[in-house]
Amino acid sequence: MTSPTTKQLRQWDNEYVWHPFTAMQAYRDEQAPIIESGEGFYLFDVEGQRYLDGISSLWCNVHGHGVPEIDDAIREQLGRISHSTLLGLSSPPSIELAQKLVELTPPGLTKVFYSDSGSTAVESALKIAYQYHQQKSPSPETRRLFGTVSGAYHGDTIGSVSVGSIELFHTVYGKLLFETVSVPSPAAFHRPGNMREGEYLRHCFTEAERVITQNANQMAAFIIEPLVQGAAGILVHPDGYLKHVREITSRFGIPLIADEVAVGFGRTGTMFACEQEEVEPDLMCVAKGLTGGYLPVAATLATDEIYDAFLDVPSAGKTFFHGHTFTGNPLGCAAALASIKLFDQNRILDRVQINSELIAEKLRPLVEHPHVGEIRQKGLMVGIELVAHRDPVTCYSSEQRIGHLVTLAARKRGVILRPLGDVVVLMPAPAMPTELVEKLCDVAIEAIEEVIASVRLN
Ligand SMILES: *Cc1c(COP(=O)(O)O)cnc(C)c1O
Repeated sequence: MTSPTTKQLRQWDNEYVWHPFTAMQAYRDEQAPIIESGEGFYLFDVEGQRYLDGISSLWCNVHGHGVPEIDDAIREQLGRISHSTLLGLSSPPSIELAQKLVELTPPGLTKVFYSDSGSTAVESALKIAYQYHQQKSPSPETRRLFGTVSGAYHGDTIGSVSVGSIELFHTVYGKLLFETVSVPSPAAFHRPGNMREGEYLRHCFTEAERVITQNANQMAAFIIEPLVQGAAGILVHPDGYLKHVREITSRFGIPLIADEVAVGFGRTGTMFACEQEEVEPDLMCVAKGLTGGYLPVAATLATDEIYDAFLDVPSAGKTFFHGHTFTGNPLGCAAALASIKLFDQNRILDRVQINSELIAEKLRPLVEHPHVGEIRQKGLMVGIELVAHRDPVTCYSSEQRIGHLVTLAARKRGVILRPLGDVVVLMPAPAMPTELVEKLCDVAIEAIEEVIASVRLN
């Protein structure tokens, strides 16, 4: 059988593939790269073009592509078995990885429930929390309300959409979702116009306390993206906010779910974001970077307190009746173990530190730019918010697709980016070498300048 030509691939892509989070009508005219291979921090398309992977293949890649240690670990496992179930059976890689995750994550998290994506890790956490209250002893309760931060993103299954609130993604499903209660996001850029920054942040701390306190008796759990709300536009929370939420939820015995799907595995400078505020959540979700971004494995970690509520004779019906077919896939777990080993071996967290400082330095010239509303950064998570006017803040119209135009301008220069609306996102892999991080920043700045100049001319 001969391989299809590039022309055929493009035709079939347009004819048969429905891409996620992609406006298909526009996509079909765009001739997006068809990625055939990857090496280090570069992606290669079927036409032989090389692109720097500026978003870690959607926030998950850690050590680069084609890393020999990870490839070998997968191959070795492939030589044994590709998949066997965790429903009532086990496998060495899933056992070893669970032990490792308990060791690495904040104290108190002692049990690992596997799934296969960030969304399913969150979905599991929500269902575990809900069921926990009904089975906890000595005093079971029915609690059905979930607390959230406004503008949250926790994934795309209906439970995780219910605890999210990004208007563009979520509004259409409104009537399908369960009820939640939310606290304002403590990120000051889009605050009500009449409030000063400090005043707004104080308001957010107070509101968190008020809303949680008022709903304490019904609250099944409070879910939060620790330190950074990713999909909302890389919104960085002020110091102390996560700890504040932990203190209030602890006071009322409300389980705290830390969604570390995006921020985990080095992205914000520490292995997990919770460490920076010494927060110990009751449930924690990890996915994207868990396997080094190689394969779809996710996990929901839980405390003994929660796990114990599910223990009883089988006929008591307290089992967690939930699980996905490919849960704890052995190839994925083998990749995760190899990736975790590389963190120490290659001193990845030191590299994150160096690269974060470099990014801040390189982007400094944009800080005063008339069309840059704000640059937000925590470690390697960077959002550059483009605005039509700075004072008062006026956004570009959505028809202008300004963020998307920057992506196209960067692509011409051999760099892959993907924006969140008008926010240009840079998310280099934690292991990316300094020169490439510099190149990423340079190209992002050039692309922004080009697009802003062209929009001004129109
Ligand atoms: C990406 C993401 C998810 C969803 O993960 P998927 O693997 O895409 O299902 C959940 N929570 C956060 C914070 C994320 O960034």
